[in-house]
Amino acid sequence: MFSVQWIRQQALAVGFDDCGVAHAERLDDDAAFMEQWVAQGLHGNMSYLERNREKRYDPRELVPGATAVVVCVLRYDKCRRDYHRTIKSMLYQLDALLQSNPSDSSSSPDTSVSSQTVSPLPQHLFCDSAPFLERRWAVKAGLGFIGRNHQFFHHTLGSMVHLGEIVIDRAIETIETTEAIAPIKTIESRFAATPCADCHLCEEACPTGALRNPVWDATRCIAYTTHRCLICQQACPLNIVFRCLM
Ligand code: SF4
Ligand code: SF4
Repeated sequence: MFSVQWIRQQALAVGFDDCGVAHAERLDDDAAFMEQWVAQGLHGNMSYLERNREKRYDPRELVPGATAVVVCVLRYDKCRRDYHRTIKSMLYQLDALLQSNPSDSSSSPDTSVSSQTVSPLPQHLFCDSAPFLERRWAVKAGLGFIGRNHQFFHHTLGSMVHLGEIVIDRAIETIETTEAIAPIKTIESRFAATPCADCHLCEEACPTGALRNPVWDATRCIAYTTHRCLICQQACPLNIVFRCLM
């Protein structure tokens, strides 16, 4: 049985800044949220969000037999120009470590699972690709929260991070579950326990009003047309705090 701590150690050895693990399950609340968001047309021309919905909501539909999602974090400044290539390369290295160690990685002397067969998985490495709710998995893995600016915030690194995931099908120790996402009608409750609760600076800084819906409106977001807008991240005081911590 894999221990979360062991997986995290391998991820750090590969060079990731952090790593968390969440049990593979259907994201029911996210499914409800996404269904409403897409129904309102807030996904703009991202028509791919209308397809493969069940795969998006449940990693077991993407990778049969999936048991857990390993979420890895890498700071922007550690990436080459094409972060997909950097992260995919690191995910392959981590996956090789996981695949080559099918035996019990916990401190338990139980050898009953040491001969567990490792079968080839279908596509199971993701970085901003495939129908995969990676920010939500990062939250479920206990790595941070999703801010009002629609960005994932790592607890100590801030939002200037990339995410990559590996879906695994091996037995894994029990993982503490984190909060569930709130339905769209109670969107504010999502921020209640975060630094965003009483802050609207990103919303006010956004030049297009994409964050005023109150959920993120992709049809107004510059980043989804030119990929060149960091205004809501630069306006966030958390990133200043996080930069000082780094
Ligand atoms: S600017 Fe304020 S509301 Fe926006 S993400 Fe940062 S802390 Fe949250
Ligand atoms: S338009 Fe820019 S500031 Fe507004 S939500 Fe998109 S990335 Fe953020």
